[in-house]
Amino acid sequence: MSNFNIAVVAGDGIGPEVMEQNINVLNKIGQKFGHSFKYESVLGGGCAIDAYGEPLPQHTIDVCKASDSVLLGAVGGWKWDTLPGDKRPERALLGLRGALGLFANLRPATLHEALKDACPLKPEFVENGVDIMVVRELTGGMYFGEKGRKQTDMGEAAYDVEQYSVKEVERITRTAFEIARKRKKHLTNVDKQNVLESSRLWRSTVLEVAKDYPDVELDHLYVDNASMQLIMRPSTFDVIVTGNIFGDILSDEASQLTGSIGMLPSASLGEGSLGMYEPVHGSAPDIAGKNLANPIATILSGAMMLKYSFGLQEEAKTIEDAVAKVLNAGYRTGDIMSEGMKKLGCKEMAEAILAEI
Ligand code: NAD
Repeated sequence: MSNFNIAVVAGDGIGPEVMEQNINVLNKIGQKFGHSFKYESVLGGGCAIDAYGEPLPQHTIDVCKASDSVLLGAVGGWKWDTLPGDKRPERALLGLRGALGLFANLRPATLHEALKDACPLKPEFVENGVDIMVVRELTGGMYFGEKGRKQTDMGEAAYDVEQYSVKEVERITRTAFEIARKRKKHLTNVDKQNVLESSRLWRSTVLEVAKDYPDVELDHLYVDNASMQLIMRPSTFDVIVTGNIFGDILSDEASQLTGSIGMLPSASLGEGSLGMYEPVHGSAPDIAGKNLANPIATILSGAMMLKYSFGLQEEAKTIEDAVAKVLNAGYRTGDIMSEGMKKLGCKEMAEAILAEI
């Protein structure tokens, strides 16, 4: 029997609804496989602003740091939309990633067989399925580089510096290779080394790290080509590793291949096993409190936690298989509903998944 302490930041809007269902699923997995999951709920986002006047209280950071893993629902909502940038609920996300040293963002884009019709591409482009993991560097590059304004002979100019160190590239590349090892052993590095000096350092570092992973096939694409190939031949990708800004764009592009935002989980990892797991979607204030949210993205985030933070592969697969069975049986929430399918609420969708575990 293993014991795991999980910090839970359910957040705002649909966050608490989908998190409740995620915890129900994890508890069922705990019963089935003999693990004990202990949860500690803490405030982050808009609800923390209401309670403490700040989106990320120190107590929340402390509890998350002391836990084995963090589950996050979603933060934000209309109520806090007029607050200045540094006081907004979304600061909780960036703050937690920084405080926990999470430098790798994992965004799977999986097209479920039963949802093939939701893919915007022609069927022949996805007949071999889509199962891509985008591993994006999360704490470097031009989003965090030196920025400013200056006068030039063309008038006022602004700049954001793209910079990567060997150490930063090494650690994200290792994370990606390790993940590829557990999947189809194929890693695609995406950079722009024909133009950018930072990409040349990125590429040479990836090649150096690759020497430790001879069992993984490695190839390289320039980012502009990668964005085309993702549309032309999505089935041929396994794991993609790339920098912050390229990963931001490519992970959103890849996710669109899967049909609905309510289906997409994500993970943020650091050096150790502590990670933060959350759905890609936001707090969906338009449907909050109405039992309409699709809980699958959050439930699949829970499966990612079992896999990447706790090393529980079989348990994670049990959740993924249960989700696939429920979709194959024709059950849908409103966001993925199509003709002839059976429509369920958030709670009922989770119950259908529980019944398959
Ligand atoms: P959103 O993802 O919350 O919603 C976009 C659309 O998708 C809405 O129509 C919503 O109803 C639908 N949707 C989202 N998740 C769904 C689910 N699980 N099931 C069914 N439908 C779903 O994005 P938004 O409307 O741009 O943002 C709403 C709030 O969430 C804002 O305050 C924004 O800042 C915040 N936000 C938070 C996160 C996060 O916590 N990670 C991410 C994005 C946006």
